Amino acid sequence: MTRSVSILGATGSIGTSTLDLVERAPDKFRVAALTAHRDVRGLASAALRTRAELAVIGDESCYAELKALLTGSGITVAAGAQAVADAAAHPADWTMAAIVGAAGLAPVMAVARRGGLLALANKEALVCAGEVVLAAVKAHGATLLPVDSEHNAIFQCFEHDQVDGISRIILTASGGPFRGRSRAEMAAVTPEEAVRHPNWSMGAKISVDSATLMNKGLELIEAQHIFSLPPEKFEVIVHPQSVIHSMVEYIDGSVLAQMGSPDMRIPIGYCLGWPARMATPAERLNLARVARLDFLEPDLDAFPALALAMVAMKEGGARPAILNAANEIAVAAFLERRIGFLAIAEIVADVLGRYAPARPETLDDVFAIDAEARRLATETVEAITA
Ligand code: NAD
Ligand code: MG
Repeated sequence: MTRSVSILGATGSIGTSTLDLVERAPDKFRVAALTAHRDVRGLASAALRTRAELAVIGDESCYAELKALLTGSGITVAAGAQAVADAAAHPADWTMAAIVGAAGLAPVMAVARRGGLLALANKEALVCAGEVVLAAVKAHGATLLPVDSEHNAIFQCFEHDQVDGISRIILTASGGPFRGRSRAEMAAVTPEEAVRHPNWSMGAKISVDSATLMNKGLELIEAQHIFSLPPEKFEVIVHPQSVIHSMVEYIDGSVLAQMGSPDMRIPIGYCLGWPARMATPAERLNLARVARLDFLEPDLDAFPALALAMVAMKEGGARPAILNAANEIAVAAFLERRIGFLAIAEIVADVLGRYAPARPETLDDVFAIDAEARRLATETVEAITA
């Protein structure tokens, strides 16, 4: 029996790592739908190599080029945001949600609504609409498998029938490229420096989030939704070697940790083979070479984005969606060199300070809050750059 697999965001860092595993095991997997935003060539090449049923490009202006590249292949081609959501709704046994940002929310909902296995990398979808997404997962009998390395580690250490025995969830953070620096020492950092992560190779947005530690904040909120324990049970510890990917502490004092080399093919493979383990080409952990594991408290003064996210997690309601939307706008402006690195957290704080809508009940509520928070953040970016 082969497992049919769809990959949303197939041309990104997580998408190509997923394709790598799928293509190494053609006897186990066949490809249903692949989607991308603008990388037509990357998408066409992956669709041809894997003989995908469906290839969808998000940006409609890329349709003609994709169509031309796939003519005669028998692969169905489509374009536009609705077509991406339709690709997510297309039947598949297993779907990787690896679109970056809130743009992945509608596709994630489409996967949840058809049931089946949902491998979730797109943390922003859970941050801005955790309750709504998880309610759909439950209502339609879908299974959420966490891809994010920390959440995958927790999932592996989480005794689902012993939840009352869990006292703490400890997320590890590498600390990013600016670990140990003060705020003043980060004032002039460039996008190139910010995306140069010491341990992981990732897309630009999550790399900047890792540099501000907003990524860890988004992950706390993501973890709280996935593992549904009270906010005070979640902690962050900085662990520069990225060998322990996260930990679960039990009331007896036992701490279970998952370790491995920093290669996303390990958590992706865990989800792809689930419930069975599958082999991956990831480098084996050589503990003698690692030699030591260090741990330190996160510096919330130097990295205020993490502090903002911790507060948003405790407040709940619309706060995480606002935090996420403002951060997406600010990170994009930083990558375009329109604002400095420190302005990212300042913009997020500013938008959280002047927008306080009611708790979102529906997906449309979330979209409205997301749109308004983006509008306010854009206004702030323009005020700074004027
Ligand atoms: P990436 O930028 O490398 O890839 C993003 C993918 O999404 C691309 O295929 C792109 O074409 C597509 N995309 C972008 N905007 C889109 C839009 N508006 N509509 C449709 N598709 C769009 O990002 P990545 O590093 O692969 O991260 C993807 C997600 O996984 C993010 O949510 C990230 O936080 C999460 N994640 C990534 C890693 C990692 O190691 N890269 C680890 C954990 C979690
Ligand atoms: Mg992570």
